[in-house]
Amino acid sequence: MKFDKLCKIIFLKNKYVNSSEANIHILSHSLHFASSVFEGVRVYNMIPFYLNEHINRLENSCKILDLELPFSKKKISKICYEIIKKNKIKDGYLRPIIFRGTESMSPESINCSTILSISGWNWKKLYGHNNVSLLVSKWRKPSPEISPVAAKSSGSYQISTLAKNFALRKGFDDALMLDVNENVCESSSCNIFWIKNKKVYTPTTISALDGITRKIVIKILKSIKIKLEIGDFKLEHIYKADEVFLTGTASEIVNVEKINKKKYRDFQCTELIKSKFEKLKSGL
Ligand code: PMP
Repeated sequence: MKFDKLCKIIFLKNKYVNSSEANIHILSHSLHFASSVFEGVRVYNMIPFYLNEHINRLENSCKILDLELPFSKKKISKICYEIIKKNKIKDGYLRPIIFRGTESMSPESINCSTILSISGWNWKKLYGHNNVSLLVSKWRKPSPEISPVAAKSSGSYQISTLAKNFALRKGFDDALMLDVNENVCESSSCNIFWIKNKKVYTPTTISALDGITRKIVIKILKSIKIKLEIGDFKLEHIYKADEVFLTGTASEIVNVEKINKKKYRDFQCTELIKSKFEKLKSGL
């Protein structure tokens, strides 16, 4: 699948162009130095889901990476709605990205322009199936002293790509990554939760992305009075869990059926959380 073929109209710099014309120069700073930040936004029934939260995180990612937000948040929101309309996105995905122009060919980017692009396409969930398998990766998620992990930045995904490629080649669906202290952290593009004796556990967001779906799930747990503990947990803790699930914009909520050789067969509580999430999606 080629994603450029899935989109018809893309917003680039300050206008709407045909997908085939949405090109950038080879000397763009971001291509060489990963100086870009982006978002993934779900569209359900032509409405962007939690759009303000995504735009706020985009703004925060820009601040962390010393990028200027090239348009107001209101204007970015408007462009998202236009992209949905122009591409007739019923159930799909938006990809806003902010990146740097060609004004520097060394790491420094003080005089670089910042460019916004927003694409969108009709898209189903990330994994084509309900239950996924995870392989624990040798790649660790960096701590905030090493890398600006709070930003959803292109640079952060280098290790995610390596970890996921390795897992896929070994026949798993994704990688489970630990932090530098060997605590369970997140998958290549999702937050992780697990359940033991009706109590839910999830890692802190010190080294993991502060996921918007994670926040929604935490709210759901409160509303159905299920206890939650956020903390540092080693792999042994998750191996003793009854249920495990991932959360993310692209994947939504997905059951984990296997981590390395450990299998999970119970998804009862996860299914309840999923049903609440489905209600939110349909605006109920
Ligand atoms: N962690 C990583 C590394 C991610 O890329 C994502 C996807 N944005 C998530 C977690 C989940 O975040 P969200 O629920 O905001 O999509």
